[in-house]
Amino acid sequence: MATNRTMTAWQVRRPGPMSTRPLERVMVDIPRPAGDELLVAVQACGVCRTDLHVTEGDLPVHRRDVTPGHEVVGEVVEVGSAVGPQGQFSVGDRVGIAWLRHTCGVCRFCVRGRENLCPESRYTGWDADGGYAEFATVPADFAHRLPTGYSDSELAPLLCAGILFAPVGELVLPALEALDRGGTLAIAGIHLSDIPVLNYQRHLFYERQLRSVTSNTRADAREFLAFAEQHRIAVSHPTYPVDQADRALTDLADGRIAGAAVLLP
Ligand SMILES: [Zn+2]
Ligand SMILES: [Zn+2]
Repeated sequence: MATNRTMTAWQVRRPGPMSTRPLERVMVDIPRPAGDELLVAVQACGVCRTDLHVTEGDLPVHRRDVTPGHEVVGEVVEVGSAVGPQGQFSVGDRVGIAWLRHTCGVCRFCVRGRENLCPESRYTGWDADGGYAEFATVPADFAHRLPTGYSDSELAPLLCAGILFAPVGELVLPALEALDRGGTLAIAGIHLSDIPVLNYQRHLFYERQLRSVTSNTRADAREFLAFAEQHRIAVSHPTYPVDQADRALTDLADGRIAGAAVLLP
């Protein structure tokens, strides 16, 4: 356990456009892990468009003054007292913290393996503090083992395959128009501006489909990370010091980031 009792963290203080400085960097107590949680020292945190939606207020915060960030790579520094053997993490392990951090386990979606649709689902950096900080907690059952052969900053963006699609409804039309017969356009964003009126012949006929994708399930993430272990994935990841998280989000908002930006301590 770290000897310091406090840490620096970014908080969404006044959700709004980046130009209004919605984020503030503050000193807070290092979080204490609940019995079923791990405490993780953050070594890299991806900068995702979802963080921007939370910070700018497109997605109203679920937790006042929440710390964004849900593509966290770090080292376990404390294991909660009630983490069972299935948690299987020890102090010193490298782990990943992703967007999905709680599901009920018993609803009709959870029992069918579609836990990303669970009405009780909770999310890192929205319902609970995330990785724009020195430390973060995660329920052990929702922490991810990480593939070897990658740096921390390469791994962080792999924890959120939820997106790369620009959150602009206008883009749906040309994308549908370009689809082959029977093709499916899957929109993986959590937020999208309104989609303009569709023309049946140009956009949907020939059994083209439009569907949304909610967050990844744990099984999706584990499958993807196992794939990454077998196949070296090239990740373009411009890095920013974590004390410049607001600049990183501003650059993302203004379209100045190519690839997936990552915050480093
Ligand atoms: Zn993300
Ligand atoms: Zn459920």
